[in-house]
Amino acid sequence: MSSLPVLVLNSGSSSIKFSVYEASDGRRNRLFEGAVDGIGTDRGAFWIKDASGQKLIDQSPALPNRAVAFQLVADALHAGQYPLPVAIGHRMVSGGPTIQQNQRITSELIDEMESYTAFAPLHTPIAVYIMREALRLFPGVPNFVCLDTYFHRTMPEEAWHMPIPDEYSAIGVRRYGYHGLSYESIVYQLGAETPSRLIVAHLGNGASITAIRDGKCIDTSMGLTPTGGIISGTRTGDIDPGVLLFVLRRMAAEIPNTADAADKLEVFASKKAGLLGVSGLTNDMRGLRDAIAQGNPRARLAVTLFTRTIAKWIGSFMAVLGGLDMLVFTGGIGENDIASRAEICAGLAPLGIVLDPARNNTRGAAVISAANSPVIIRVIPPLEDLMIVNHVVRLLGEQSRT
Ligand code: ADP
Repeated sequence: MSSLPVLVLNSGSSSIKFSVYEASDGRRNRLFEGAVDGIGTDRGAFWIKDASGQKLIDQSPALPNRAVAFQLVADALHAGQYPLPVAIGHRMVSGGPTIQQNQRITSELIDEMESYTAFAPLHTPIAVYIMREALRLFPGVPNFVCLDTYFHRTMPEEAWHMPIPDEYSAIGVRRYGYHGLSYESIVYQLGAETPSRLIVAHLGNGASITAIRDGKCIDTSMGLTPTGGIISGTRTGDIDPGVLLFVLRRMAAEIPNTADAADKLEVFASKKAGLLGVSGLTNDMRGLRDAIAQGNPRARLAVTLFTRTIAKWIGSFMAVLGGLDMLVFTGGIGENDIASRAEICAGLAPLGIVLDPARNNTRGAAVISAANSPVIIRVIPPLEDLMIVNHVVRLLGEQSRT
């Protein structure tokens, strides 16, 4: 196979992240990566850096909207300095109830994904916008969608079926699970070392945890939307449905319109809750650790809710897996926050999860369990973009054979 430049696009509410990999037989080299950040402000950031980390572009343009931001990316990639992509892979949080396979993007597929906005209301409108723009600005280049739900398709029905009336199950209200590209990349990196019973905790701004048997997902914490599961930066995670009803009833007096009330509930549960809501300070773990060091009790409570919830999920997934061979931490907090890992593992020693404090304190240590720990504890970075490149290369190959 000749060398194929593949563009990976991952868009968020105020940023578009991208990277270009060169893929050839079994080899994947990241040529460069970049981001446009601060969309909606008059002083954003646009940068591209090469594989050695050297900045090739470093600008602070006005970014009034997403169109201007993506045009900047397209113009830079068309400028002739970089190899033009032969294929584009898009990270997509949810494909709704019917789109479960990674596949080539057509305008019909985009319309279908857009019709499922309710399944990931914060992510889908942005992702479908970028897909339409990518088809327009890179004419003739095949685009592929890579779903965060894809890794979770192997869950048994008892894991994904929600305890709700059937009329809602029938229209796709179920557990889908997210962060799938991260989980897939952990199994990929473990390769032959993937144990039979594995739990991965992806702890970033969004946080989730997944039970994996023989390399396949059998249960995960996030549900219909990424708001479910573990408490995270600004999201409640799983919560007594009575809380939402309580809030809704209070709102009903002021907001008679149901759609407006739903939007406000979304803000309550997804944007103002979690670490931010409890601390009243920030959703960012580094900021919370600083506040804890200064004796802030709200920050301490928020982080304790976070670590305690994760320990509870680890225990429950051990019950689902019938024990545990390996626990992996990943994501910004999982990789970097030594104190969170220590707090999560503190109560788990009786379950065979024994951390080695010195290894845990060593930056970059891959194995952080004690030598006599029945469960191996590891820290592994997520390689989501690489997984997207792998899917794109596989789908391109399938396409050329048909
Ligand atoms: P996202 O879910 O947006 O991809 P990340 O995986 O980048 O987020 O994780 C962001 C979180 O990781 C933030 O809460 C941030 O404070 C935390 N984090 C990043 N680096 C560190 C660090 N060195 N120590 C503690 N927390 C960190």
